[in-house]
Amino acid sequence: MPRTVELTMTAAVRATTDVLVVGAGPAGLAAAISSARHGAHTLVVERYGYVGGNLTAGLVGPCMTSYSLGGGEQLIRGVFEELILRMEAEGSAIHPSRVPAGSPYAGFITYGHDKVTPFDPEAVKVVAAEMCLAAGVELLLHTLVVQPRLDGDRVTGVVVASKSGLEVLEASVIVDCSADADVAARAGAPVRVGRDADGLTQPMTLFFRVGNVDDAVVEEYVRAHPDDRRPFASIVEAARAAGEFTIPRRGVGLYKTLQSGIWRVNTTRVQRRDGTDVGDLTRAEIEGRRQVVELMGFFRRRLPGFADCFLLDTAATIGVRETRRIVGEYTLTLDDLVSGRDFADVIALCGYPVDIHSPTGSGGGVDEQLRTANAYQIPYRCLVPVGREQLLVAGRSVSSTHEALGAIRVMPAAFAMGQAAGTAAALSLVDGVSPRQLDVARLQAVLLRDGAYLGRGFAGAGRGV
Ligand SMILES: Cc1cc2nc3c(=O)[nH]c(=O)nc-3n(C[C@H](O)[C@H](O)[C@H](O)COP(=O)(O)OP(=O)(O)OC[C@H]3O[C@@H](n4cnc5c(N)ncnc54)[C@H](O)[C@@H]3O)c2cc1C
Repeated sequence: MPRTVELTMTAAVRATTDVLVVGAGPAGLAAAISSARHGAHTLVVERYGYVGGNLTAGLVGPCMTSYSLGGGEQLIRGVFEELILRMEAEGSAIHPSRVPAGSPYAGFITYGHDKVTPFDPEAVKVVAAEMCLAAGVELLLHTLVVQPRLDGDRVTGVVVASKSGLEVLEASVIVDCSADADVAARAGAPVRVGRDADGLTQPMTLFFRVGNVDDAVVEEYVRAHPDDRRPFASIVEAARAAGEFTIPRRGVGLYKTLQSGIWRVNTTRVQRRDGTDVGDLTRAEIEGRRQVVELMGFFRRRLPGFADCFLLDTAATIGVRETRRIVGEYTLTLDDLVSGRDFADVIALCGYPVDIHSPTGSGGGVDEQLRTANAYQIPYRCLVPVGREQLLVAGRSVSSTHEALGAIRVMPAAFAMGQAAGTAAALSLVDGVSPRQLDVARLQAVLLRDGAYLGRGFAGAGRGV
């Protein structure tokens, strides 16, 4: 145990709000916009200088499928689709209905990769912020939420740190979209981490983009090598044998972008690091950047179409796939996803399959063996932490098992959960009940009216897909 010291200090109350959303990633954006649209004064706090979370700071993309596994039904609509349609209108995204499985935008992957959404991360920073402001959301950027404030079991606000120093934000309801359950965990709500057997989490990846790639040569090479189980697997194997490829990956994750000659790279891999420990995050950033340099050399030497490529940029932060998951009123399991279980309190549907990058080895990715249903449901109770009041959680840290998280962690699902959480927060204030006591049938009716999708013929609580 580290040595501790006691701190006593006075901090100014910077703001008092109805709904406070922590984190402006996919879940937080959808939560804030939805909350404000339902009349709650909504403040969203984000540690970076722009919104988007992994959409922007993480350089993560494309958005994985928002459709059913078979690609036949669009499951995630609402705020997510609104953002994409606005970006598409200005040429900075392609609607997923136009992106088939196996396309270069989908990294040439077919299983689970039908109808992904390519987008320009710079556009997200502007368009998503505009959507927040238009909805009446107050944005507070460059601000890290450090510590929740409690009155008994009720979370009443947070201490934040910024260039303005330490300040307090008070709120009637807090929606924790930090992806690490920062508020819930520090408020003492129970959390779980990693695999049941050893607590290990999925590895981290520093995304980067390369420019001046010969797109046609890349696409032709992949088409001509259908036997490579992962794109460029045989080239990776040869390079590894020659001692030129030390990263624990079996192929290269390459995703074409909207700009010709520019590809996103999802290939670095940093294992056995804890995304909630700043020492581990520091070590992971350094290792991630070392791997980028190694990969750039490998690309130029060995990858067809990459001989003259340059490093365009790296993400502002290493991407953290997995940290804490809250223990909620319900914990979503792999079996729920495989059986496509109906939940009376369904608030989102998803079709992305289980995608667990190995915490220890070079394998992993979308898993065709763990066959999830064509569409599976996420219930409201996964967003409601046990033991703490006036708090909801949305996005990567909702209540699920390690295996189920491997599927629901993608960005469209985070938007859908965020929309539900933000709507629930605002409705709970209108109805004068705690989020735990909210009438879920009413929440579902409002979500449907707001363009979310809860299944064909869904007509209220008790009816599934
Ligand atoms: C390497 C990697 C590759 C991935 N590939 C894909 C992919 O191709 N497609 C896909 O759809 N999904 C992919 N994912 C999954 C997806 O990016 C995340 O699971 C998803 O972004 C989760 O959304 P979120 O809103 O919960 O969290 P995030 O996107 O992480 O957003 C959380 C936000 O909260 C902010 N924040 C955190 N803590 C605090 C705090 N204490 N105070 C203030 N602000 C805070 C962060 O800065 C961030 O903006 C990938 C993830 C990783 C890491």
